[in-house]
Amino acid sequence: MKEVTGGLKIPVFSKEQAIESRYYGGADAINRLIQELNKLPGIGPKSAQRIAYYLMRAPQEQAIQLAESILSIKQKIKLCSTCFNVTDADPCAICRNDQRNRTQVCVVEQPQDILAIEHTNVYHGLYHVLHGAISPTEGIGTTMSGSRNWRCGYKTVS
Ligand SMILES: [Zn+2]
Repeated sequence: MKEVTGGLKIPVFSKEQAIESRYYGGADAINRLIQELNKLPGIGPKSAQRIAYYLMRAPQEQAIQLAESILSIKQKIKLCSTCFNVTDADPCAICRNDQRNRTQVCVVEQPQDILAIEHTNVYHGLYHVLHGAISPTEGIGTTMSGSRNWRCGYKTVS
């Protein structure tokens, strides 16, 4: 173990030691954070360790804001009852927007697909989010009616 500059004593482990939780000794909180970060997509053990130590050194306000923003998406975010996009208000801003072309509906697989399309600033219609892929050959289909209350066979949302 060695000390890191900044007056804060932080244990520094090798990559192999970081993976083995037994080397954390009494640093259960750090170990838990590393394990939780490691569950995120694209975050391996080394990145999880780097982020955990960064957060330990960061101002408390920054850590609180991160924790609150994570809680917020779990507590406030829901699905729009019209298009099934993620939103904090139902119906979502796109469905509420009278300037959108209501004669066009773009069916997308995931909510993040809307962000990519909106970023182009070319499409101005409405959306319908399936929350999964359609694959008729695998029996994953969709039932579309005349209303916007469509359901995806892969993952039914209501
Ligand atoms: Zn909507």
